Amino acid sequence: MSARKDTKVRVVVLGGGTAGWMTAAALRRLLDGLVEVHLIESEDIGIVGVGEATLPHIRGFVERLGIDEAAFMKATHATFKLGIDFRDFGRIGETYVHPFGSFGEEVAGVGFHHYWLELQRQGLAEPLGNYSLAVAAALANKFRPPAQDASLASTYGYAYQFDATLFGPFMREFGLGIGVKRTEGKVVEIKRNAKSGDVTKLKLEDGREIAGDLFVDCSGFRSLMLGSTLGEEWEDWSPWLPCDRAAAMPCEHTTEEIEPYTRASAKSAGWQWRIPLQHRIGNGYVFSSAFISEDEACAALVANVEGKQLADPRVLRFRAGRRKHSWSHNVIGVGLASGFLEPLESTSIYLAQMAITYLIELFPLDGKIDPKDRDEFNRLVDMEYDRVRDFLILHYHATTRDDSEFWNHVRTMEVPDTLAGKMELWRETARVEKYADGLFYDASWIAVYLGQGVVPERYDPRVALPDPARISRAMGSLRTAIDGEVSAMPGHREFLTAAAERLAEPV
Ligand SMILES: Cc1cc2nc3c(=O)[nH]c(=O)nc-3n(C[C@H](O)[C@H](O)[C@H](O)COP(=O)(O)OP(=O)(O)OC[C@H]3O[C@@H](n4cnc5c(N)ncnc54)[C@H](O)[C@@H]3O)c2cc1C
Repeated sequence: MSARKDTKVRVVVLGGGTAGWMTAAALRRLLDGLVEVHLIESEDIGIVGVGEATLPHIRGFVERLGIDEAAFMKATHATFKLGIDFRDFGRIGETYVHPFGSFGEEVAGVGFHHYWLELQRQGLAEPLGNYSLAVAAALANKFRPPAQDASLASTYGYAYQFDATLFGPFMREFGLGIGVKRTEGKVVEIKRNAKSGDVTKLKLEDGREIAGDLFVDCSGFRSLMLGSTLGEEWEDWSPWLPCDRAAAMPCEHTTEEIEPYTRASAKSAGWQWRIPLQHRIGNGYVFSSAFISEDEACAALVANVEGKQLADPRVLRFRAGRRKHSWSHNVIGVGLASGFLEPLESTSIYLAQMAITYLIELFPLDGKIDPKDRDEFNRLVDMEYDRVRDFLILHYHATTRDDSEFWNHVRTMEVPDTLAGKMELWRETARVEKYADGLFYDASWIAVYLGQGVVPERYDPRVALPDPARISRAMGSLRTAIDGEVSAMPGHREFLTAAAERLAEPV
């Protein structure tokens, strides 16, 4: 990429899926006046079109771009999400919720879970989830946005569950409205500078050529620029995350209420998602083809869904891992083109969002890529992927299940050193490794550890000092306050319906 003084940097985005349109819209809006953004997509090839559950971070993205939340929710038939209800992971019959919120609060500088562990030892504690407003509200099918103060009502966040086939088109309309240029066509050749190796132009099937300074590869699993053209090496994580297929199928709602959470139920060769949207429920069986055939997985999915089937199961194939570098030469991979981690914690759109955020922070505004910026981008993106990877592996490894070959494999496999270290720290001290950036924070790790039966041998000795009866009373008061908050909240469907007029506002 060469310096082009006093002109806008020409960014070419290849791919019009969720990642492509998020990237194009964000660059255009947040680097306004400094870049030209041109997106190429092929209707013939289409998009992955799954990916219905998100993390609370997406709200920051929507807000930063100036997208109206109500219009966005209306257009994508979205619902609110307070967390994920995990079933049968640690042991068959056991459930827990990983909430977008905290459990209790620190007392005298000691984390709530240390007190909870001590009271549980003494038989005085209720299940951990009873001390989380997000968990209680989710399981009661209640929703209202969190308060913006320091009260109990502010101790949770929320994300969205939306129709993935509608999110990309929504972002496309938004992107076009703010000046992203779009070309429909199939890229058949990627031209490079013979000397530098940088990409210079994308050639379309009809012979047109599109030139640029910086290229963003959002071509999905094909990874046309980063993978196929630049040959960026793939790090394979399937030994730890053996699921490599998903059978997806929508069904009708069966109840009046719409759950404000995603459900993940462990199955014999993977797990099944259930994501309630306004108009239907999304379902999918994520499985490992080494342990179950595609036909068997589809049959299991059909047998398991609760509502009337709205389509036949559709099988998607993938592999867990990421490109060694997400930014190589003048090509940045965002979304599936750069890596994939299965949807157990709804992290893919988050990973795309973070890559976009880091790209904007490190963007070569003078038209000249500084290798230090590129290295920093790769370090940050790797960190995000690696942390999510470890957290996902924990869900499989922290189990006592021995009822299938799949669970025997994941229970007994060796995990990455980084995860082994975190688990050891937890077991020995009940401490969670602190992150300044990236996913996931303490409450998430605590939810999964304790939800899946990884109980620490020791915890903070300071919890032995205060009078246990006093702490128990304080926990009882918290429980009462949570119950009070939940009963004052509207039902999730009621909240969506009450907001219907607002949700109908045009973009
Ligand atoms: C089973 C499954 C479940 C998932 N669930 C979740 C979830 O719950 N939450 C979450 O956050 N994420 C989830 N994801 C991930 C999510 O679907 C993706 O991160 C998201 O859709 C982004 O995809 P993408 O834009 O990178 O790729 P795609 O959607 O594949 O888009 C690729 C684009 O590139 C274009 N293209 C490709 N080749 C060419 C060419 N030669 N010329 C022109 N255009 C081309 C295509 O036309 C398309 O527009 C899930 C993924 C899978 C597989």
